[in-house]
Amino acid sequence: METGCIFCDIAHEKTSTELLYKNQHLVVFKDIKPHAPVHILIVPKRHIRSVNDLTEADQPLVSELIMTARDMARQAGIHESGYKLVFNVEHGGGQMIFHLHLHLIGGWVQQQG
Ligand code: 5GP
Ligand code: ZN
Repeated sequence: METGCIFCDIAHEKTSTELLYKNQHLVVFKDIKPHAPVHILIVPKRHIRSVNDLTEADQPLVSELIMTARDMARQAGIHESGYKLVFNVEHGGGQMIFHLHLHLIGGWVQQQG
């Protein structure tokens, strides 16, 4: 747990942020400033700064983040219409919060024809 890290605070339930899902390794909650009808963040409980800081030992965790995102997409009813899974990496990649997180983004209106 990193002092002053908002995602550590959320992951350890020290804020009023509602968790959509949690288990031993990760938490899931809605993005405060959604970029799409569905915008959910999948966040490891452990403070990892960015994708660049992952190690070999984190492979099961990364897999779990992705599989949980897939399950949340199904739960949100967007698994068939489709969605994006995004890791923003470092400042140049648009990362603003330096605690690893996976964005699940989707739910746009389907185009007809
Ligand atoms: P990044 O740009 O680091 O990949 O994404 C960080 C995301 O976290 C942004 O989409 C931003 O809206 C979201 N965010 C930042 N602070 C909070 C917060 O306090 N609560 C929630 N639910 N989302 C946040
Ligand atoms: Zn943190």
